[in-house]
Amino acid sequence: MKERVIIEPRRDGPRFFTRVSQIPTELEAPTGTVNDALGRPLHDLRISVTDRCNFRCVYCMPKEIFGRDFEFLPKQMLLTFDEITRVARVAAAHGVEKLRLTGGEPLLRVGIEELIAQLRELRTPDGRPLDLALTTNGSALAKKAQALKDAGLNRVTVSLDSLDDATFRAINDIDFPVQRVLHGIEVADAVGLGPVKINMVVKKGANDHDIVPMARHFKDTGHILRFIEFMDVGTTNGWKMGEVVPSAEVIRRINAEMPLEEVAPNYTGEVSARWRYADGGGEVGVISSVTQAFCGTCSRVRLSTEGKLFTCLFATNGHDLRALMRGGCTDDELSTVLAHLWRARGDRYSEQRSEEMATRSTRPKGSGPKRIEMSYIGG
Ligand code: SAM
Ligand code: SF4
Ligand code: SF4
Repeated sequence: MKERVIIEPRRDGPRFFTRVSQIPTELEAPTGTVNDALGRPLHDLRISVTDRCNFRCVYCMPKEIFGRDFEFLPKQMLLTFDEITRVARVAAAHGVEKLRLTGGEPLLRVGIEELIAQLRELRTPDGRPLDLALTTNGSALAKKAQALKDAGLNRVTVSLDSLDDATFRAINDIDFPVQRVLHGIEVADAVGLGPVKINMVVKKGANDHDIVPMARHFKDTGHILRFIEFMDVGTTNGWKMGEVVPSAEVIRRINAEMPLEEVAPNYTGEVSARWRYADGGGEVGVISSVTQAFCGTCSRVRLSTEGKLFTCLFATNGHDLRALMRGGCTDDELSTVLAHLWRARGDRYSEQRSEEMATRSTRPKGSGPKRIEMSYIGG
């Protein structure tokens, strides 16, 4: 007999646990929208397609942890493209309109274009195609941009932490030259994957001297530069509050040289606060994950490379959808489980972090509760 399993979220003290139980006997048809315990609708699905990366960014996959001996997931543990598409289809029936492929480095997943082509076929309940984006370190973008566009990708976000070649090489820690990423951005724009968003994680003392030069460089290009506060994701990056440059400070520094005006958000729940140059030179954004938590409107769910569903970037455990699918569940069962998981969601980690900041401002490398790494679940 087919084994029927469901993973239920359960809170036990400060940690999340994963439990296996029966799929609810009462199956429910998706209604096109589902709200969590705090009234937040499910809207975005972030899909990690690989846990591997060719970079070793010091704040994400530090070499001393992700060295030669580090064991990445074997191929059979990864969700197949059909499994990913199945989860995305079910999520779309519950209101997901945006899909973002991430990683690790998503362009390392062999055949990523085929997955994009499959996801391109999905529709919202009222028949619209989903918004399909990808976040990349840009190292293979020049080579792959046209194929990604042809497969149906709408947009790319490129992570770039410095324009200064020496700083960039030190951050990616594999001596990768900045010029190749800049070229990738131009190719992506030229093939129609724009406007290209550029994400810069700002870490005090590492690259904050580059805030204004980055703004100057991308002003008047049509690309949208976004500054991200360094976050305490995972347990390996040795996060300290003192290394966070608050977004207000980023805006202050740019504004002093190139005056900015605040712009209204595109939609409720947009994580990036938008600013535009007063002289019409385009837009910049700031993502204040630490100093101004946006849990109140967080509508994102994350699917890990091996099929675990995480309802928060800071969750300690995921819900094993791969086990369900490989155990032979039907789409109705998968859909019912997803609805249950989302309805039970009460995550608001960043807001809680703000509340607790007074008592905890640093976390040594490798310490604290086991939490997922950014390179495992994607940003
Ligand atoms: N490899 C791809 C890339 O770098 O764009 C996709 C995955 S990467 C984990 C996604 C994003 O997470 C990147 O923009 C990266 O800079 C960001 N990121 C990683 N660790 C972070 C941290 N501790 N705080 C803030 N952002 C982080
Ligand atoms: Fe790789 Fe992206 Fe993490 Fe850098 S931020 S190590 S490119 S996954
Ligand atoms: Fe969303 Fe969790 Fe981040 Fe809050 S901490 S914004 S709930 S992912």
